[in-house]
Amino acid sequence: MLSLASYVNSLPGLEGHYIDGVIHSLERILTTIGEHAGRTLAVCLSTITANYEAAIRIAAAVKTVDSRIAIVVGNDHFTALSREILERHRELIDCGFIGNEVYSGLADYLLDRRHSRPAGIYPGSVRFESGRLISAPAIREPVNRIIDYRLIDRTLPHSEVYAANFTRRLGRRILELTGRRVNQGVPVEIGRGCIKFSGDDACSFCSIQYGGMWKNELSAEHAWSAIQRASEAGYDYLYVTADELPLTFARLMLDMAESPPDWWRALPPAQRPVLVGYARADGMEKEQVLRAMRGIGFRILFVGVDAGAPRSLQALNKPLRNPDSAAAARKMYDSNLRALGNARNHGVAIKAGFVLGHLGMTEALLEENITTYIEFLQAGRDVIISADIELLSPEPGSQDFRYLTQLDEAEAMSRRPGLGIGSRETRQRVAERYRQADIFDRETAIDDYIGVFMPELSKERLATARDRVRGECARLGIVTGDEL
Ligand code: SF4
Repeated sequence: MLSLASYVNSLPGLEGHYIDGVIHSLERILTTIGEHAGRTLAVCLSTITANYEAAIRIAAAVKTVDSRIAIVVGNDHFTALSREILERHRELIDCGFIGNEVYSGLADYLLDRRHSRPAGIYPGSVRFESGRLISAPAIREPVNRIIDYRLIDRTLPHSEVYAANFTRRLGRRILELTGRRVNQGVPVEIGRGCIKFSGDDACSFCSIQYGGMWKNELSAEHAWSAIQRASEAGYDYLYVTADELPLTFARLMLDMAESPPDWWRALPPAQRPVLVGYARADGMEKEQVLRAMRGIGFRILFVGVDAGAPRSLQALNKPLRNPDSAAAARKMYDSNLRALGNARNHGVAIKAGFVLGHLGMTEALLEENITTYIEFLQAGRDVIISADIELLSPEPGSQDFRYLTQLDEAEAMSRRPGLGIGSRETRQRVAERYRQADIFDRETAIDDYIGVFMPELSKERLATARDRVRGECARLGIVTGDEL
């Protein structure tokens, strides 16, 4: 949101304001909007599944403050369910934007709205007009480079809370892990996308909505500038937000390592910003990329681990191109082990992520996966500093969510690895609940998913298995559930 607010703020005649609904109460947000109502053109809400309900409450309340204020909605949850959301809230939501390349469309919409009723074509937008749902395809646009950190505290105070939370939750832990004393964190966008989006074969549980561009990135020079701006604004722990770095942005990482700017070279190593980001384990196998990443300041990588039974990896849509799936799974496991070796050699710590459950998982597969996860954790106990083990949650936009409503697709997918799922009648009943829904309880969705797609298992059984892996983490000294 800071990126969008900064971009809007740079437009002629518009002022961008940033409010974080996680740290401010609804009451305070509405009071603030009320105080500025006379000069508020639009309230733009970033919706992910976890905050969608709150976003709709804010939208409704804003309209009661002043119905002329436009409500604009975007981000993953809206992108995944735009039709359902707009059909249900057509009186409330004036315009929505789909995917990531929404900056110029939003700018045009706001500028038009300032003068009249917007009737133009706004790339990436979808909205109701004269009772018809109209949408305009997104266009390719570069990653936004306008970030104005002053906006963070312009409207309501945020920095103080962010800094206090950071110190309380992370400061000491990062010092222990990296030997670096850091004070403030901020997300930095130098690229977005994942190599798997290029073939439209995201992991089954992945709900990232990449829109029209599977990958978008800054040049090495501009990426360094983004890091410099964050560093000069006082941030020293930078979350690089790209969905996956070493495979997807290998060239960018190598280019950045080859062209460190003067300001960065002039800093003593202990004062350079600490970078953290996402990686696939098989990406960390590329030693020269990992070396480059360590060279430019990456100290911790969040890694989704591709280890487990061959049929599980197939069901999760992990890359198993080899027709001999057992051999391919073994190869993936070995490549995960090599990733641990590279992390060890280059001093990069790993926060490992495991997803438990999938379409057609059986008791035997669950056991096999748990055994492999534990083996992996044992092999990496010196470099894996933290682990997240979570039950699969079918988020809108993911294949797993689609399986809940698309009966034939789920059936076809489960047949590929030869796995059993619940009866068509049961799945039909559950599908009715999700087909037109824009809002639902995530815990219930997990229950429903397990009920129809893992008939041999239950949520309790999966939770027990998860606790077994967490218990092993505790035994190995690996922290679970931290907020690195
Ligand atoms: S879960 Fe990660 S690796 Fe899988 S498709 Fe999504 S971003 Fe890519």
